Amino acid sequence: SQNHHQLHIFFLPFIAPGHMIPMIDIARLFATRPGIKVTIIITTHNSLLFNNSIDRDIISGHQIQLHILKFPSSQVGLPEGIENFNSVTSPDMAPKLYQAISILQQSIEQLLRENHPDCIISDMFYPWTADLAKEIGCPRLVFQGTSFFSLSVMESIRCHKPHDTVSAETETFILPGLPDKIHMTRSQLPDHVRTRNSYSKLMDVIKESELRSYGVIVNSFYELEPSYADHYRNFMGRKAWQIGPVSLCIKREEKVEKHDCLSWLDSMKPNSVLYISFGSLSRFPKAQLAEIASGLEASGHPFIWVVRERGKPSEEEDDQRRWLKEDMTKGMIIRGWAPQVAILEHPAIGGFVTHCGWNSVLESVAAGVPMIAWPLYAEQFYNEKFVTEVMKIGVRVGVQEWNSLMEEGKVPVKKERVKEVVSQLMDGGDEGKEMRKRAKELGEMAKRVVEEGGSSNANYTYDRRRERPGCFNISSKSVM
Ligand code: UDP
Repeated sequence: SQNHHQLHIFFLPFIAPGHMIPMIDIARLFATRPGIKVTIIITTHNSLLFNNSIDRDIISGHQIQLHILKFPSSQVGLPEGIENFNSVTSPDMAPKLYQAISILQQSIEQLLRENHPDCIISDMFYPWTADLAKEIGCPRLVFQGTSFFSLSVMESIRCHKPHDTVSAETETFILPGLPDKIHMTRSQLPDHVRTRNSYSKLMDVIKESELRSYGVIVNSFYELEPSYADHYRNFMGRKAWQIGPVSLCIKREEKVEKHDCLSWLDSMKPNSVLYISFGSLSRFPKAQLAEIASGLEASGHPFIWVVRERGKPSEEEDDQRRWLKEDMTKGMIIRGWAPQVAILEHPAIGGFVTHCGWNSVLESVAAGVPMIAWPLYAEQFYNEKFVTEVMKIGVRVGVQEWNSLMEEGKVPVKKERVKEVVSQLMDGGDEGKEMRKRAKELGEMAKRVVEEGGSSNANYTYDRRRERPGCFNISSKSVM
C-alpha cells in the first residue's frame, strides 16, 4: 500500500447467515481499530444490514465502505432478494449460492486489482481469492466459520478415514490423532464425507486454497480450546488467529428496538427459561414440532422457541393449532428473526436447545448458558462432541443420523426424550448444576479475552511494533 499509516482490508463474506453475520461482525470489529480501513464487498439486499445507527456512524466516519454488487438471482434460478440474510432459505440452497458468487468472480477480481488491498479476508467459499491475492501481492486470510476443534476433526477424518474401518453405520470409532478420544459413527458424518459427490470436490478445492493462503482466522478463543488451537498450528502446521467471540465485540442488540420477548424475560426468574432455536436454515416437519411442543409442556419449564416450519405460510394458522396446544401459556413462539444474542445474554435464560451451529454454540458460551445439543447437518455433529465431551457444558439429545429431518415423516426425537433432557439440564440435578457452573466460568473467560490485553483482542489489534504480531501485523510485501 502507498499509505503506511492505514491498512486497507477487503472483506468477502459468503451469503448464508451463519457465515455473513460473523464476517460482518469481524469487519466492524476491525474497522473500529486504529490504523485500519475496511471495504466490504456485499450484495444489494444484504447491504441493508448496515442500515442502523452504529453502522451508519462507522460508514460516515469512512472506516467502513460498502461495495455493492447485484446478486445474480435469476441466473441461478433463485427469486430476487433471496440472498437477504434472513430470507426464507434452506441448507440445500448452498450450491446455488456458491454458483451465484462464482458468477460474480470476474467483477470482484477486477475490483480488487484496481484497489490494491493490503489484505483480503474472504470466506472459505471464495477459494479463487488465494490466487488473486498472490497476483496482487497481498495476504489472503480465510474465514472458515467453525472452531479449531471441528477443523481438527475434519482433518483427522480426511487423513485417516476412520469411518472406513467400521462395517456398520452405527458402529463407533475413535478419531485418530486428536488431543481427546472423540467417538463418532459413520451415520453422523456428512454425506459428502461418506460418499464422494460434487460437494466433496468443492471441499477439496477449498482445502487446497486454504493451504495456499496466508492463514486462517477463527471465531473462537484460545482459552476455550487450547489443545485444538495448538494442534491446528503445530501438528497441522497452519497459521491461524482466533479473534472471537465476535458476538461480544459489538453489541447487536443495541441496534434493534427491544423485542417483546426481552420484556417478557424481564419478568422471569434467573436461569429459568429455555431458549430453543435451530439456526437460520433448518425447517422442521410438523410431526417433530408436535413432539417438541408436548415434551416442553410436560417439562413444565417456560421457554422461547424460534419456530421455522415447513409448508406454505397460508397453512400456518391451522397447523399452529394442530401442534401447539392453546393452553401452552408458559412459552413464547417467535416466527421471524429472533434477537438471539440478546436473548442468550438475558439472565432469565437457563438453557439453550441448539442445532449446534458454531455461531450458536459460541454465542451460548459467551453468554454462559449450558446447552441441549440436537445436531442436524453440516459440521454440527462435531460441534455436539465439543459441547458435550470436551467443554462438558451440554446434554446430548442423542440423534444418530446426519440430516435425518430431511425425510418427511421422520420424528427422530420423541416427546419423552425432550422432557428427559430438559429435566436433566433444568431441574437442579448435580449434573445440570455442574454444567451450568462450567458454562458460567467459560462465559466470564469469553468476556475477558475480548478486552484490552485479552488473547483475542491482541489478535485484532494492529500495532507494527509488537513482537508477537496479531493477524494484521503483516507487511504485504513480506509475506509473498
Ligand atoms: N440467528 C438469529 N436469529 C434467528 C436465527 C439465527 O440471530 O432467528 C443468528 C444466530 O445468532 C447466529 C446465526 O444466526 O449468529 C446462525 O448461525 P449458526 O452457525 O448458529 O447456524 P446456521 O444458521 O448457520 O445453521
